[in-house]
Amino acid sequence: MGSNRFISGIYNYCDYWCERCAYTRRCRNYQMDPGLKRRADGQPPPIERDAANAAFWADLAEAVRETELFGPADARDREAGLPDDLQPDSEWLAREEAHRAAVQQHPLVRMAFDYMKRVEAWQSTADPDLKAVARDLLEAAKSPVPNPAEEEAREIGDMIEIATWYHTLIPPKLSRALDGVFEKDGLDDDPTGVLAETRQHDANGSARVVLLAIERSIAAWTRLRTLVPAQGDAILDLLVPLDRMRGGIHLILPGAQHFPLAFLGEFSEPPTNA
Ligand code: SF4
Repeated sequence: MGSNRFISGIYNYCDYWCERCAYTRRCRNYQMDPGLKRRADGQPPPIERDAANAAFWADLAEAVRETELFGPADARDREAGLPDDLQPDSEWLAREEAHRAAVQQHPLVRMAFDYMKRVEAWQSTADPDLKAVARDLLEAAKSPVPNPAEEEAREIGDMIEIATWYHTLIPPKLSRALDGVFEKDGLDDDPTGVLAETRQHDANGSARVVLLAIERSIAAWTRLRTLVPAQGDAILDLLVPLDRMRGGIHLILPGAQHFPLAFLGEFSEPPTNA
């Protein structure tokens, strides 16, 4: 593919669902991170895999070498602090702390975290109804009359996978979008406007990913309501916050819906080298 192999920054505004991404070969993040490749292949981390294969020991040897040379990864991260003379001043730290708190307290971010918890609760409470549908489908499969039991079983699995994939993505991406908005609004010194433009761009990109996650979640939950009618009311309780979040994003970041997502094949200009 030559020098245009990687698409610049494609992984900044994507849903990290590499398994379903058409651009893995052109994503530097994916190509450089063995963990992403493993997850996309459905493989667990090396230490959790079956030890009776060569790949396990090759990965382990690599981890041992890095640990011997540099120490444990988490300790390396902790030690990689700045020298004293480069430490940020306390005023800056206080401002950053207030800024972070404002993002976390924003009604949309709180709604996103609340939605995440509701989905997690749904996963345990919906179990009996889902199993009842599973039993019905198994019964239907015994019928000599052709019926869509297999397709419905696959569809239910797919809808649950979509909804549960996105429920953890929405809060951090929405936090990042609002962080960009607050940063842009708080810029005291930006004579050229470049910083404000950068923050706005990042906020729009993050918010567009959230909008995508919300749209796909709404579609999945709506279909699931039809397939598992006993869960109709419970799913409605999940659809309401999604719809409210969508409305809130359109109000706060109207430009987000027009942000092109390269990982979906949307480009505002031809893809460039990373
Ligand atoms: S752009 Fe595609 S391959 Fe890269 S991190 Fe995102 S989903 Fe994964």
